[in-house]
Amino acid sequence: TEDALRQAQKMEAVGQLTGGIAHDFNNLLTGIVGSLDLLQTRLGQGRIDTLERYAKAAMTSANRAAALTHRLLAFARRQPLEPRPVAVNDLVASLEDLLRRTLGEAVALTIRPEPELWPTLCDPNQLESAILNLAINARDAMPDGGSLTIETCNTHLGADIAPRHPGVTAGDYVALAVGDTGSGMTSDVIARAFDPFFTTKPLGQGTGLGLSMIYGFARQSEGHAAIRSESGQGTIVTLYLPRHRGEAVPLPEPDGFDPSRRA
Ligand code: ADP
Repeated sequence: TEDALRQAQKMEAVGQLTGGIAHDFNNLLTGIVGSLDLLQTRLGQGRIDTLERYAKAAMTSANRAAALTHRLLAFARRQPLEPRPVAVNDLVASLEDLLRRTLGEAVALTIRPEPELWPTLCDPNQLESAILNLAINARDAMPDGGSLTIETCNTHLGADIAPRHPGVTAGDYVALAVGDTGSGMTSDVIARAFDPFFTTKPLGQGTGLGLSMIYGFARQSEGHAAIRSESGQGTIVTLYLPRHRGEAVPLPEPDGFDPSRRA
């Protein structure tokens, strides 16, 4: 949960950074466009040395803009995945306190674990931050309160999944559904919700990275993610993680954990 908190803080920082970058990026683009505009109007006037200066100025701005986006992407990029067998119900249970604190009093949390849930193979730290991010999105969609339900079940994706979702293979999956009774999404928003930087939140408040990172995590884990939502009704985001045919190992303890100090 330390990692999950750090990840959530990181996302907040990315939000602030995105706002700042959008501003700087605009200034840089203004420099590029202005210089190119001058270049265009002076072309053919035979002032080669001046033209060279304009071209250099445009290049400098363009390079700075590229460096900025690289910095943002390097910052947002997740660490390499470390997949291991995971008991998803145990992981959800270990997050319960943190989730309740994150959701606040106005949102009721219900957890419905499938008793005989299969183990899955994925990076438990990334799964943690995915669940936290989904809970934060749900909370944001329920400013007047509501309920959040986290449900797990064993499921099978049939052969019809591949044509509709290229790259997703038919087979057994552990499904984790996070449902809320919030504002829901229009079909336009559903269609773009997994896109990086797509957000309907005010500048500086949303990064538009949460769902895209969750989708990336699911696909890199050889799973799948899907949204079901209706305006005014609520939203369910479901992660499908591949079934692991073997034992789940206990969750790793955080660094420096001393069992004798457990409260
Ligand atoms: P962010 O939360 O920073 O905007 P996300 O990628 O997590 O970025 O979400 C993208 C958009 O999808 C949000 O701006 C919002 O419009 C919509 N969205 C995500 N989760 C929910 C939800 N639980 N209920 C309603 N809309 C949602």
